[in-house]
Amino acid sequence: MIDPFGRTITYLRVSVTDRCDFRCVYCMAEDMTFLPKQDVLSLEELDRLCSAFVKRGLKKLRLTGGEPLVRRNIMTLIRSLSRHLDSGELRELTLTTNGSQLARYAQDLAACGVRRINVSMDSLDPAKFSAITRGRGRLDKVLAGLDAARAAGLKVKINAVAMKDFNDDEIDDLIAWCGGQGFDITFIETMPMGDIDGYRTDQYLPLTQVRERLEKTWTLTPSTLDTGGPSKYVDVAETGQRVGFITPMSNHFCDTCNRVRLTCTGTLFMCLGQEDAADLRGPLRQGESDEPLLAAIDAAIARKPRGHDFVIDHNNRPAVARHMSVTGG
Ligand code: SAM
Ligand code: SF4
Repeated sequence: MIDPFGRTITYLRVSVTDRCDFRCVYCMAEDMTFLPKQDVLSLEELDRLCSAFVKRGLKKLRLTGGEPLVRRNIMTLIRSLSRHLDSGELRELTLTTNGSQLARYAQDLAACGVRRINVSMDSLDPAKFSAITRGRGRLDKVLAGLDAARAAGLKVKINAVAMKDFNDDEIDDLIAWCGGQGFDITFIETMPMGDIDGYRTDQYLPLTQVRERLEKTWTLTPSTLDTGGPSKYVDVAETGQRVGFITPMSNHFCDTCNRVRLTCTGTLFMCLGQEDAADLRGPLRQGESDEPLLAAIDAAIARKPRGHDFVIDHNNRPAVARHMSVTGG
């Protein structure tokens, strides 16, 4: 899969459900309306779709959401997809999770060939954690999930959204804590996606500022690691771990973009920050042959846009109307 700008697309992120047991302040509104169940693809259909991408040369598959581990029977899908790891066609099967169900699933994930996971955790303070998730999340459960992940041999990277006047005073603590646990950590700037009953301009904290500040406390050297993704990493001499920065607002990273995103209704977004999308559910449901589906994938890749242009809107309108939980973060 090669797009019009010569970028090889090897990475698919799939939002397997738009539902979640948390309501993080930057991600969802308190009273979210979720998709009617009948609009959501079955696990078998998601498997067929992902497998069509593997046929087209996909190397890395990430399940996300909403919260992927709250989708019923999700392990059936993961177990089935692991056949592509066994065949050597797929290099990596991974997921991004809020960690609430990890204690239950960590062993099964490892048994399916999952080697690394991203776990989102924005605060180490139980009260703040509860506030960020609007009272739905419990830090102790996530920490138990992280212990289970380590026990299962999964490599963990923590994702933390950096928010002004919320967790900006915890950034050093998070780095030190992750260092002690053997976890890398990536900080993410809030992106203006979907209506969230809040003020984006209040939340936005430019990571360029954070990085400058961190350089006064920690010895940071640019990492040689290049994931082909949006994260820029530094090695932290004091902890021996890496810290990444995802800066969609203050720094564009589109030139090396290698990914596309699929929603749980079978809509393919060729860019996180653009509205253009391709329907894959129609071709999928045309019949048993994968030909219409493969043709639709080829046509979609052929119109992947060059990049996005997020701006924090001072009238508080999201730059992209759909929530991150729909497209998958
Ligand atoms: N529920 C899972 C989780 O929280 O890890 C997976 C889905 S979540 C949408 C994926 C990632 O997107 C999380 O790390 C979350 O912090 C991030 N995210 C959600 N909304 C965001 C926003 N508006 N700006 C930046 N990051 C966001
Ligand atoms: Fe749920 Fe993840 Fe969004 Fe938080 S960031 S509300 S855990 S989907």
